[in-house]
Amino acid sequence: MDIETLLSVMEDEAKRRKAPVYTLKKKTTDPFRVLVSAILSTRTRDEQTAAVAEKLFKDVKNFGDLKKIDEEELAELIRGVGFYRNKARILKSLAEELDGKEIPDSLDELIKLPGVGRKVANIVLSEVFGKDVIAVDTHVHRIANRLGIVSTKTPEETEMELMKRVPEGSRRRINKAFVGYGQTVCRPQKPLCRECRISNMCRYYFRNL
Ligand code: SF4
Repeated sequence: MDIETLLSVMEDEAKRRKAPVYTLKKKTTDPFRVLVSAILSTRTRDEQTAAVAEKLFKDVKNFGDLKKIDEEELAELIRGVGFYRNKARILKSLAEELDGKEIPDSLDELIKLPGVGRKVANIVLSEVFGKDVIAVDTHVHRIANRLGIVSTKTPEETEMELMKRVPEGSRRRINKAFVGYGQTVCRPQKPLCRECRISNMCRYYFRNL
């Protein structure tokens, strides 16, 4: 199975099973919303991130608005996502840094921002600037290793290996397809291998027969 076919099967199956990544996430290319949502989403379920982001974006539309909110008040507003106090601190630092400026469109510049790692930076590059990059989160890392597309220890290594193996033009599709599949079929615990349409190419499946 080539990578395009694999991605199409994973996308179809995740949509059919109503994966939160397809049903909850409001499609936007607004740089502020994409960056803030990506930070809120770290170590948090998509359902929680979507609910918190919706509440936050009612009154907070840009980094200028974020700058005006007290850190404690912000922490209360985003309570419900993991590490909300830490994230409130990060968002306040980002507001200081980015109010009145453009969000950078390069990985090197993005990862210099407070609280922005490669995954968040690649989400911004992909969703805001349309770049053909791979945002590797825990779902992408786990499934790429289970399938045997990579044999890596860290998300960073997975990103480097996937960039070598996935052809240009398909890289942007990886994150959503793998996240959706990871939320519904190839779950972290007890993956649904017997129902999986890509088990015939899965290393984990053959090792655990
Ligand atoms: S066979 Fe199991 S481990 Fe492999 S991709 Fe499918 S659900 Fe995941």
